[in-house]
Amino acid sequence: MPPQNTQSVIVSVGGDCVIFDPWGRADDWTRILGERGLNLRAIYVTHGHPDHIACAPALAAKYNVPWFLHSGDFRLVGWGNDLLAYFGLPPITINDIRPTELDISRTEILPGLFMDIVETPGHTPGGVAYHFPDERVMIIGDTLFQDSYGRCDLPGGDEKMLFQSISHIYNLNLPDDTEIVHGHGMATTVAWLKQNNPYFK
Ligand SMILES: [Zn+2]
Repeated sequence: MPPQNTQSVIVSVGGDCVIFDPWGRADDWTRILGERGLNLRAIYVTHGHPDHIACAPALAAKYNVPWFLHSGDFRLVGWGNDLLAYFGLPPITINDIRPTELDISRTEILPGLFMDIVETPGHTPGGVAYHFPDERVMIIGDTLFQDSYGRCDLPGGDEKMLFQSISHIYNLNLPDDTEIVHGHGMATTVAWLKQNNPYFK
């Protein structure tokens, strides 16, 4: 069964923005950015699955910006193009712009906006969560959903590591009101997950 549409996120400061997990078509993103008067500065993806990197290479080429991916998932780039075809999206090919290796340290991604990167292998080897401690937001990818966790049966998946990654996030003791943006489905909070997701422990 194909996944629900991926939750892409635009984060902006002033007229500059970055996009996380760009689903869909580059042309549609160009229209959205144009309507909002935003300049794209970079693209970050939580992992290398096709529904999360869908138009990252095309957008990177169009705006001459890097698209950042953990190197553990570099070999996934170009895998699973049949999923993109299912949604009528173009494939990712060897001729596309390659990802830039993610630097695993606190980064000021836009002026005054600091992001921490939490490595969360399991769903894929190079999965990460992006955490904005000051804004109390975490973009968690497919590691954890509202009441379940990400698949481990796809290439590079490892259930034991996934549960280690989930408990690593749990043990960060993030404030209860931290908003959690899941790769698919509605966003939740840390408090909500503690109550409703039996795997968040
Ligand atoms: Zn995935």
